[in-house]
Amino acid sequence: MKVRFAPSPTGYLHVGNCRTALINWLYARHNKGRFLMRLDDTDLERSEKKYAEALSEDWAWLGLDFDEFEKQSNRLHRYEEVIQKLKKDGRLYACYETPEELKYKRKVCLNAGKPPIYDREGLNLTEEKINAYEAEGRKPHWRFLLTNDAVDWDDLVRGPVHFDGEKLSDPILIREDGSPVYTIASVVDDIDLDVTHIIRGEDHVANTAIQLQLIKAVGGDPKKFTFAHLALIAGSEGEGLSKRFGSLSLRELRKDGILPMALISYLAKIGTSDAIQPYYTLDSVVTSFDIHKFARATSKFSMDQLLLINKKIIHGLSYEAAIEHIDLPEMDAEFWQTVRANLDSLNDVHNWWNICRGDVKPVALKEDKDFIKQAIELLPNGPWTENPWDTWSDKLKKETGRKGKTLFKPLRQALTGQEHGPELKILIGLMGLKIVKERLYTAIEE
Ligand code: GLU
Repeated sequence: MKVRFAPSPTGYLHVGNCRTALINWLYARHNKGRFLMRLDDTDLERSEKKYAEALSEDWAWLGLDFDEFEKQSNRLHRYEEVIQKLKKDGRLYACYETPEELKYKRKVCLNAGKPPIYDREGLNLTEEKINAYEAEGRKPHWRFLLTNDAVDWDDLVRGPVHFDGEKLSDPILIREDGSPVYTIASVVDDIDLDVTHIIRGEDHVANTAIQLQLIKAVGGDPKKFTFAHLALIAGSEGEGLSKRFGSLSLRELRKDGILPMALISYLAKIGTSDAIQPYYTLDSVVTSFDIHKFARATSKFSMDQLLLINKKIIHGLSYEAAIEHIDLPEMDAEFWQTVRANLDSLNDVHNWWNICRGDVKPVALKEDKDFIKQAIELLPNGPWTENPWDTWSDKLKKETGRKGKTLFKPLRQALTGQEHGPELKILIGLMGLKIVKERLYTAIEE
């Protein structure tokens, strides 16, 4: 079997289309099939190289691969052949409406409470009318002539789906500039490249009905294809997740310190009957994958849930894995192992590093200097095999009579130069004896 993920390079990969891509990939790996990455880039005006490059980068960041790669812009000659055949068979007809005229027609239908089905004006144009349009400088776009045959398929997610042919609207297959639209290009590719399973969002259900007729018209066998239409995921307010939803692009999530396995764990399970939980390896996600577990209802994307999974994965992340994702070459394994349980996001590690190892020169308040001197004297000598905080703070309490805020605040100030921050016990464990001493001595310098 073979699946494909077919993004148009008109925006960055975001949680919505990344989920579709991931589910295709999981389907292929679970069933020992092949995964084709295909760029649907026939819309030359909107396609951009930077988005195609970003796609490869983001896919690699996720740790996912593909078995085949194809670009629709490389196959234009092939689409042209098929278009000629369709024209010869009378399945394509020229239309001359402007976008404004089409918009108006749609509106008239909708106002009359009817579905916006194209009225096939193009099919009935007289020679004179065509000549008049051409003389005006209009160029035709071309529509596919659908039949009234019903279209049925057994959807892996939605179950049996039925469309009446007469309720479908003849789709535009060729733009005014002569370029083929995705609808035809995709059908030709899916046939030529031996795709067997088409897994995509439910916004493509009506496309499937049209494309099944198109497959037949170009000489393919609709029975060779299995379809699965996934329910969409919506934003937390129920709004659609569009490509323009910038903050949910993979690039943003990566910048925000989300780990690939956290995103994969979440996107593989949202909208399924499985519990949403962290998965630590791709293999475990592949093994637990089952397309029949996907529900038909829309699910809401929850950033909080993603962050929680991310946190859990970070807490168990090995040093070797961590340094692949954190740009902090000075960080050693010991630091990572101590700090990881305190991180909410990967980026927090930079704050901890700055506080513990950064170039901080704290100064104690004048009235606290004697207290800090006592603290230095009572500091347990190294090497610290275990965290000395409990012994040290007990001694300090006894000797100075201080407790609570009056004990912690001056120490925190002297160690970090800040009023607030992570627990002192954890901090001194991360700093180690040498740095703790240095900071305390610096803090009491006159
Ligand atoms: N390029 C199409 C899109 O991004 C692909 C849809 C499909 O999977 O057929 O919507």
